[in-house]
Amino acid sequence: MLSFIVLVAVVLVAATAWQDLQARDVALHNAQTAVSNLTSSVARQAEDAIHQADNVLIELAERVAEDGVTPANRERLSRLMRRHVQALEGLQGLFVYDEQGDWLATSFGERGDHPNNSDRNYFIYHRDHSDPGVHISPVVSSRTTGEAIIPISRRLEHADGSFAGVALATIPVSYFETFFHRLSLDGKGVIFLAMRDGTILVRRPASAPGQAQTLINGEIFSRYLPRSRQGTAMVTSVVDGVTRLYGYSESEQFPLVAAAGLSRESILADWKLDAYRDTLLVSAVILLLCLIGSVLYRQVRQAERAKTRLADAYLELESLAQSDSLTGLANRRRFDAALQVEFARALRNRTSLAVILFDIDLFKQYNDAYGHLGGDECLRQVAQIIQRFVRRPADVAARYGGEEFVVLLPDTDIAGALTVAEQIRYAVSEAGLAHRAAPLGRVTISGGVHAIDRAAATSALGLLETADAALYLAKQNGRNRVCQEADRPTASVVKLPTRG
Ligand code: GH3
Ligand code: MG
Ligand code: MG
Repeated sequence: MLSFIVLVAVVLVAATAWQDLQARDVALHNAQTAVSNLTSSVARQAEDAIHQADNVLIELAERVAEDGVTPANRERLSRLMRRHVQALEGLQGLFVYDEQGDWLATSFGERGDHPNNSDRNYFIYHRDHSDPGVHISPVVSSRTTGEAIIPISRRLEHADGSFAGVALATIPVSYFETFFHRLSLDGKGVIFLAMRDGTILVRRPASAPGQAQTLINGEIFSRYLPRSRQGTAMVTSVVDGVTRLYGYSESEQFPLVAAAGLSRESILADWKLDAYRDTLLVSAVILLLCLIGSVLYRQVRQAERAKTRLADAYLELESLAQSDSLTGLANRRRFDAALQVEFARALRNRTSLAVILFDIDLFKQYNDAYGHLGGDECLRQVAQIIQRFVRRPADVAARYGGEEFVVLLPDTDIAGALTVAEQIRYAVSEAGLAHRAAPLGRVTISGGVHAIDRAAATSALGLLETADAALYLAKQNGRNRVCQEADRPTASVVKLPTRG
């Protein structure tokens, strides 16, 4: 029963653990799908915004190349630029600079202070590189509005290919922030758009002043991106130290990386709750099993004890049913049973078997002299003496009836039986139990002995009858003696006193 309970408990724990692990896998898998989807949206939105800005830049560059910027068409160019900015949500401003960095035209119109942007990174880049493609720069603060902007720029060239200036479109960081905030994210989730060199362009939540501003040392940039342009990974953030499941995607057209991460804590929160609940439930079931087990165990133990008590009582009853109540020796029934068993065994094993029949001498007179109760006490004393000489486990001393006793001695020949009988007779005589009606003044007994020899198969009854006849002989020969069949005189006819 104990092993059954242990087995059930083990199976229960294993099944629950397996189920919990499966549920954990499902939770992680769902989160993987969620962050992948988020990342794709961010990447697409960023690419769209930059494409849109770049298309305008291409158009501006063409126009400037074709028409040049003259005082006459500057106003027209500015108007065109203003219309573009108004039409496109993702544009903060449009600018055209000459090769010195001076403003030629902007979507903000004429400025009296003649500002110069030759110190800007993008200007220096285009001046020093003939790269004709679109260029994305880190976030700067706008010189016109003060807001954070991402500069998107192209190089302008003279007909001979020399540097002619820069066309610039600026995308407000707030444009991405607004989009990021529309995406659903848990409290510890993060979305970012960064340059391939790790510079953060936009992040939700924005990284605080004390936190890292570059992601180049983060695991996504240092470990995962070099291996594949997109994927998911469980990574601890270099910005805020939170472990998240990130989706990341590197743009094929621009040197940009989009990523979205959900905190491991929030991904597994529901699963953890379920796992706790399952653990509690399983513990309760196991506790209940143990309780039921212990109750059952106690009941079985009680039943077992009751059975033992019953068996003991039965044994006691049986032994009572087989013993003589006056003397405590075996009774006639038990003797008869033992005789049958031992007789069969003697025949089978070809061993000898002896019986001794004892009868107290002149017991009628004893009763007359000492009363029936005195007689009973005398019987008990004689029985005790007989029992003293019957020691081997298979030997049986029994009350045969009235004042007669019988001793069964398995595996004993006539000589041995005669010795035992004589010892008992002598011991009774020497005990000196007073018998004033007897010639010797004390209680004596007579004994008849018979043994079957190895192959001499008579019947069990015959064995007893012969012993009884020998006892009769002992009585006839004067009592207080032990006789065997061989003691009977064969030829002479002697008149002996009758027994009784
Ligand atoms: P003998 O020497 O020839 O045996 O003489 P005896 O008087 O013993 O003769 P017998 O064996 O015939 O007598 C048996 C007597 O034993 C008869 C009965 O009064 C007495 N007796 C038998 N059973 C009991 C008993 O349980 N208690 C008592 N007190 N006496 C018994
Ligand atoms: Mg008798
Ligand atoms: Mg007698």
